[in-house]
Amino acid sequence: MSEIYNLTLCQIIEKIKSKEISCEEVTKSFVNRAGKSKKLNCYIEDTFDQALKKSKDQDNKFESDKKLFGAPIAVKDLFCTKGVQTTASSKMLEGFKPEYESTVTSKIWNEGANLLGKLNCDEYAMGSSNETSHFGNVINPYKNDKDLVPGGSSGGSASAVAACLTSATVGTDTGGSIRQPASFTGTVGLKPTYGRCSRWGIVAFASSLDQAGPMTKDVKDSALLLEVIAGHDDKDSTSAQNKVEPFSQKLKKDIKGLKIGIPKEYKIDGISKEILNLWEKGVEVVKSLGCDVKEISLPHTRYALPTYYIIAPAEASSNLARYDGVRYGFRAEGKDLIEMYENTRSLGFGDEVKRRILIGTYVLSSGYYDAYYLKAQRVRRLIKNDFDEAFKKIDTILTPTTPSSAFAIGENIDDPIAMYLNDVLTVPANLAGLPAISIPAGYDQNNLPLGLQLIGKPFDEHTVLNNAFAIEQSINFKSNFKDWWM
Ligand code: GLN
Repeated sequence: MSEIYNLTLCQIIEKIKSKEISCEEVTKSFVNRAGKSKKLNCYIEDTFDQALKKSKDQDNKFESDKKLFGAPIAVKDLFCTKGVQTTASSKMLEGFKPEYESTVTSKIWNEGANLLGKLNCDEYAMGSSNETSHFGNVINPYKNDKDLVPGGSSGGSASAVAACLTSATVGTDTGGSIRQPASFTGTVGLKPTYGRCSRWGIVAFASSLDQAGPMTKDVKDSALLLEVIAGHDDKDSTSAQNKVEPFSQKLKKDIKGLKIGIPKEYKIDGISKEILNLWEKGVEVVKSLGCDVKEISLPHTRYALPTYYIIAPAEASSNLARYDGVRYGFRAEGKDLIEMYENTRSLGFGDEVKRRILIGTYVLSSGYYDAYYLKAQRVRRLIKNDFDEAFKKIDTILTPTTPSSAFAIGENIDDPIAMYLNDVLTVPANLAGLPAISIPAGYDQNNLPLGLQLIGKPFDEHTVLNNAFAIEQSINFKSNFKDWWM
């Protein structure tokens, strides 16, 4: 039999329920492999011993009604996990053990999954390469002559799924942090509609954009994990009341007649030829599946990235004000209270986080608030209106996920603008609060994976998942890296 760690989440659960494999065997398989994969630097903290113990207990007390029974799952280190260090990959939170569990992760454990550990990410989820982490960069299992970034900010999560170091995971996506790393690692990443999943207990970056979502090997796993983590939560005032459907059971690959929009403004300058070819291939695939493909216009697309890089830092500067050396984690000494605050924040945060706090404080300051922040909010509305207009005629939108494939570690780190350009195709969905998924769709000439993105109407994850499932079945992408890091 192929190794257990190669199976999808759904296959694992099915085999556990039919007693073909035990919970302990499954957990052992992932623990052994993750233990031999330290070079990828995916795990900040592991809970392997507890997971192994719990899996034995589970074999003795079988609960077959639970949707994720026996699945070992590691999560991005942005989710608060009770009694287990939660750092947001920042020195500021090193050693912080929350007294509470995030709603999303509680839902996962309530369905019988087992926490395997906490996965590396960009500091406070700010980044597109997982190089801003206090715990060092993560390495992509795909490589050419150099080590490559896994994308970010959920880079540890993406590499861990791709390299089979967890059966699946949850990440967060503020401007692309689930989809861009999914695209760079040949995995599936879904950002649900804003409000679909509770933000309670997730370390906040930009609260009007942050959304948790599944990162998995395939679309069916994504549907299953979404139905577990979605739903209203009284503890999050922005969480939606919408009914959660059994997405995984309703998945179907017949999408004949679906109307799919191709936004002409997404053919941005500098996008590689290979990405355009991939997009073309995606169009051919959906046409062959009987979809009706139309060109559409989203005229304000070019303002999405600058708008995002005003709104996200503004909200971040406000959210991160709480890290003052008094309430959480790290504290530096100072001769008085003000100096203690200053030293704590200077030494506790990394460069990228400080850059965002400076930008955010600037755009919110009196005199600049109207010119930047308020203007950005207005443009955000125009971007949302573009989508509303387009969705009167179509069901989903098909685009590439990223303007390039994975790049080398260090290549963009000194050029913030080049780094920010990674998000050009993903941020519009966050600004408009729409569900969007990245699925692996092919390889570039260097054998690096490339993803296609599908964007849907608010709370229409069902159609997005079906569309993604149909494309996945047709393309039949297979990961093709060797375990070179072991
Ligand atoms: N790369 C984007 C940023 O740095 C998105 C991050 C995210 O989605 N958390 O802001």
